[in-house]
Amino acid sequence: MSGIYIHIPFCKQACHYCDFHFSTSMGKKDAMVNAICKELELRKSEFEDETVATIYFGGGTPSVLQTNEIELILNSVRTNYTIIDNPEITLEANPDDLSEEKIVQLAASSINRLSIGIQSFFEEDLKLMNRAHNAAEAEKSLQLARQHFDNISIDLIYGMPNMSLARWKENIDKALGYGIPHISSYALTVEPKTALAKFVDKGLVSPASDEEAQEHFNLLNETLLDAGFDCYEISNFGKPGYYSKNNSAYWQQKKYIGIGPSAHSFDGVRRGWNINNNPKYIKSIEKDILPMEVEVLSATDKYNEYIMTGLRTIWGVSLNRIATEFGPKFKEYALLQADKFIEEHLLYLDDETLKTTKKGMFLADGIAADLFMVNLR
Ligand code: SF4
Repeated sequence: MSGIYIHIPFCKQACHYCDFHFSTSMGKKDAMVNAICKELELRKSEFEDETVATIYFGGGTPSVLQTNEIELILNSVRTNYTIIDNPEITLEANPDDLSEEKIVQLAASSINRLSIGIQSFFEEDLKLMNRAHNAAEAEKSLQLARQHFDNISIDLIYGMPNMSLARWKENIDKALGYGIPHISSYALTVEPKTALAKFVDKGLVSPASDEEAQEHFNLLNETLLDAGFDCYEISNFGKPGYYSKNNSAYWQQKKYIGIGPSAHSFDGVRRGWNINNNPKYIKSIEKDILPMEVEVLSATDKYNEYIMTGLRTIWGVSLNRIATEFGPKFKEYALLQADKFIEEHLLYLDDETLKTTKKGMFLADGIAADLFMVNLR
């Protein structure tokens, strides 16, 4: 089973912390929708032998599209690919786009999962992040979404400047109050060249310390586990039956095609990425040229990627799979490097599978870096 990711590169305004690819000018929206439909057609041979199980509209802000534009794109998927009977079709949406009319239209379309970018229920946080929505819109969008969708995820950000543990707890409790079955939650990171990075440089805001961010994560983890969620990936919490099938497939190294500017693709051997420039993307597709660069992953690259994604998830890293796929040297190396983390109770061995403990989960990236292989081919 494989997935299709579709990047919608438009946003109403730039959030201060964001380094994704998007444009705030909607002038080329029609041309972009046409180019996306055409890229789907141009690349259909890549999935000749595959069946699509998940379709994911990410961005940017896919909810800036009209429902008929979403359907145009989905029609192109249906025309050019084989799809399972009941695919997971997710739309990332921002609260300010989710009027009652829009939600009703989306519920009547083939979209069956909404991922709503709430980020915070507090005005102060939303202003600091320069989100396009306010706190009232955040709540209203959830009330409406709950009436029309069962499979809903929301994004929440922790580790924000001046965010007390009590305010973070209120954010989590509000999300739980709406009965949302899936929460994606990320620590605010200061990415280079963002407005937030400039504010930090000028001393206008100071980001939360690593210890504060870890405290926020621990509170999130404990509260959500108590509420019946699984932390199935460091940033993703789902009730049983509500894990994101799309993201789970990425973490399990399944194939996916990424459509649209800046979208990444993976075919099991090669990773590709589309140009991250809207006009150049459109021009290239209009000329039937895929604006994509490709790199062939070495065994070391694939091993490192498996370590990185595996340790961040509840599925862990299978030593037998490492031995079979990469060879016994890789397995020996992983075990040797894991030893100190096992002693520190950050990792444990479960039936030949290395997994992070509850305490180790937040530190998964650092632990993975120690298990990475350098230059052994
Ligand atoms: S809405 Fe999402 S993609 Fe757009 S600027 Fe904000 S965080 Fe970035």
